Amino acid sequence: MKKVVEFIQKTFNTKEFIPLHEPRFIGNEKKYLNDCIDSTFVSSVGKYVDQFEEEFAKKVGSKYAIATVNGTAALHISLLLADVKKEDEVITQALTFIATCNAISYIGAKPLFVDVDLDTMGLSPKSLENFLNENCKIVNNQCINKTTKKVIKACVPMHTFGHSCRISEIKDICDNWNIVLVEDAAESLGSYYKNRHTGTFGKVGAFSFNGNKIITSGGGGVIVTDDEKLAKRAKHLTTTAKIPHPFEYVHDEIGYNYRMPNLNAALLVAQLEQLDKFCENKEELALKYEQFFKNFEGIDFIKQPENSTSNYWLQAVILEDVKTRNEFLKFTNKNGVMTRPIWKLMNELEMFKDCQSIDLVNSRICEERIVNIPSSVIL
Ligand SMILES: *Cc1c(COP(=O)(O)O)cnc(C)c1O
Repeated sequence: MKKVVEFIQKTFNTKEFIPLHEPRFIGNEKKYLNDCIDSTFVSSVGKYVDQFEEEFAKKVGSKYAIATVNGTAALHISLLLADVKKEDEVITQALTFIATCNAISYIGAKPLFVDVDLDTMGLSPKSLENFLNENCKIVNNQCINKTTKKVIKACVPMHTFGHSCRISEIKDICDNWNIVLVEDAAESLGSYYKNRHTGTFGKVGAFSFNGNKIITSGGGGVIVTDDEKLAKRAKHLTTTAKIPHPFEYVHDEIGYNYRMPNLNAALLVAQLEQLDKFCENKEELALKYEQFFKNFEGIDFIKQPENSTSNYWLQAVILEDVKTRNEFLKFTNKNGVMTRPIWKLMNELEMFKDCQSIDLVNSRICEERIVNIPSSVIL
């Protein structure tokens, strides 16, 4: 394990503390921020928000993009666009960051948990199909959970650490069962499955620009869709559902104050310009890690799955068992190299422990053995 610490220190060219993931502001960030402040348009209206939305949509190949205050808000609105209601159920993976389940819960809907594939760490189409075949039937064109009698309205797969899951296979299954596909692409900006950008397979997709993501606006998110009506509704819902009017306040439903401020968008426009460079840099780092761990007994580096191109946002390794994982976490963190275990399974948290799930063998393996290692863009 000492060799791992030495290798990471050499790779990042420092003996000081090495964090898991640091943002890099090496482009036009300060220029655009100054310009934004000088314009006085620092809040929810301004040219940078519009510019970002246009450039982002082009980048991922979707028709529309709607910027939000954070990724959780983007997911929340995405689920509303999918028409998820209070009494509905939403299928997702047990192995994900809490935000996926929080967004489902904000509506009052309930998450149901299926397993992940070991190679992608993302929702497994096989497990999804098994869950549906065992537990569900189609009634009046709706997918009904035979146990709870509730409607399964949507499915939210997540592209873990920027490795894309088998999203087109998942889409086919959702189409067969009349389930709306909503992608949690918070971690996968710059990642492609079969040459198509993640987040654009579903009816709606959500991204995050939190401080730890591949590019950041401090806090921020975005919703993407090809559906003009949904795009308009997303803008409406995120801007307090106010009817456009030169001076009057008229709101036609309960809306949200979820619009990304122009100040954050200014930072983000500069970050987006550097995305390709960041992805290349991270791929180089991944190759170095891969080479190093190839000859290392007991630790395997997690490579991008087949049919995909990863952004390698967070680099990850898998250890032999929970005991060696714990030793690895202890040793690296004590020696100034930050590492972190993957998330606890959602169905083990107090809030979701009563939610229905299917056999979660692979999720458990990941939960016990996967660790993230330093992943920042190297200057
Ligand atoms: C980061 C993240 C989000 C959204 O997070 P915010 O901090 O609200 O921007 C959602 N889902 C996943 C899987 C994430 O990693």
